[in-house]
Amino acid sequence: MPDRLESQHDKTTNAQTPGISQRGIRRQVNRAPLYKGLLPFPILNLRALPLSSNDRVVVLGCGMGGLATSSLLAERAPSASITIVEQKKTFEFSPSFSLLAIGRREPGTVRRALSIPKKRRLQLINDRVRSIVTSSKMVKTKSEELHYDHLVISMGVDYSLGEVPGLEKYAHQFYDFDSAMKLRDALEGLENGRLLIGISRLPIKCPVAPYGLALLLQDHFARAKKKVTIEFFTPEPHPAPAAGPVIGKQVERLLAAKGIAFRPKVKLSKVEKETVVFEGKTELPYDLLIVVPPHKCPSAVVEAGLTDSSGWVPVSPQTLATRFERVYAIGDVTAIETPHAHVPFLPKSGSFAIGQAEVVSNNIAMSITGRGERKIWDGTGSCFLEVNRGESAMLRGEFLSNPPRLEFHPPRRKWQVEKTKLEDYWMTRRF
Ligand SMILES: Cc1cc2nc3c(=O)[nH]c(=O)nc-3n(C[C@H](O)[C@H](O)[C@H](O)COP(=O)(O)OP(=O)(O)OC[C@H]3O[C@@H](n4cnc5c(N)ncnc54)[C@H](O)[C@@H]3O)c2cc1C
Repeated sequence: MPDRLESQHDKTTNAQTPGISQRGIRRQVNRAPLYKGLLPFPILNLRALPLSSNDRVVVLGCGMGGLATSSLLAERAPSASITIVEQKKTFEFSPSFSLLAIGRREPGTVRRALSIPKKRRLQLINDRVRSIVTSSKMVKTKSEELHYDHLVISMGVDYSLGEVPGLEKYAHQFYDFDSAMKLRDALEGLENGRLLIGISRLPIKCPVAPYGLALLLQDHFARAKKKVTIEFFTPEPHPAPAAGPVIGKQVERLLAAKGIAFRPKVKLSKVEKETVVFEGKTELPYDLLIVVPPHKCPSAVVEAGLTDSSGWVPVSPQTLATRFERVYAIGDVTAIETPHAHVPFLPKSGSFAIGQAEVVSNNIAMSITGRGERKIWDGTGSCFLEVNRGESAMLRGEFLSNPPRLEFHPPRRKWQVEKTKLEDYWMTRRF
């Protein structure tokens, strides 16, 4: 491949899920050539089967993981009773929040109403999950008590702004829709000066997204002929630590080529008006500050006893099963240990959430219909790094191999076209 800058190939491990023999298990195959799991899913035409006491599935959260799980399950097990609980009335395509913030996307192109066509046997409850009681297989919302035979938790992350004094008051961020819109106004008003962008705590969702925003902003200000200098800070040793130091260096080179100063291994201790303070008392001045806020596991999940000392839900990497019977967790809410030394846990990524949804929906459907073959998840994922108006870089790999098999593809127009296709897909995909 002529455009591949860096590749680290090695053997893939064939770890086996405890308690499940390799017979009857099909490794999940890479159906889409690129950005596996975020492209259209195969549709299985299964005949409707009679209801049984095994068929009540409750899916918590309807972001990328929850939407994929419930729609795939509805296709694969048409007899199942599927209830989705989601606190928001909309679905948002967060990978485009950076484009929203710099004015290259309008709100209606990255956010749409959540609705279920009448013909589908799915129920969407627009409510907040208050508690999960695994001992009685029940979920409580503000207004309902839901009993399940299978539970899929795909509730993503909450933000913990209070962890860093001054963060909420002085910093902008782009990790949710409303904040990205506020940042958009602030960026429009910035004529010149010093823009600081950084990461407050780890882990975060899509660890390359803040680097992409820094590169996009440099391009944006250069085109607008605004004199804005950009500096990036992070507690990470290098960008995208899960991808290893060699790929991290590629991202650092992209920053350096655009004159973006990079300050790794710094931990933000507080934010003051026009100054950030790091542990060790180093300070940096700013005119506009953008900080990815600390992430935490949603409180209902923590209170249910599903988390461990990582603060997230430990699951089997192959089946996404939690330690509770028939309770699965997928996506950002999970902590999946890596078998290599780059990072202790897999990064939080939409491509992982979708690949996991594919496996969990398949295996629950199999349990309900008695048909098909079990699948296991293989840790494949990818993400785009937008660098300017016309190009994106792309990173993909098998993150559960030891060492991981990873590829970094430098900026090309084709990766940006692929990213736009994904956006179109998610903005039009229905249950
Ligand atoms: C700026 C940005 C850029 C990104 N770029 C990429 C990218 O390029 N590629 C990539 O693969 N990933 C990217 N990601 C990450 C990706 O968006 C997430 O990894 C993915 O959305 C995870 O899916 P999920 O289902 O676990 O969580 P989410 O999609 O966040 O869904 C969780 C859902 O649960 C709901 N919920 C939470 N708590 C409750 C409750 N108590 N009651 C009811 N509902 C609740 C939430 O409202 C939400 O809708 C990006 C993320 C951001 C923020």
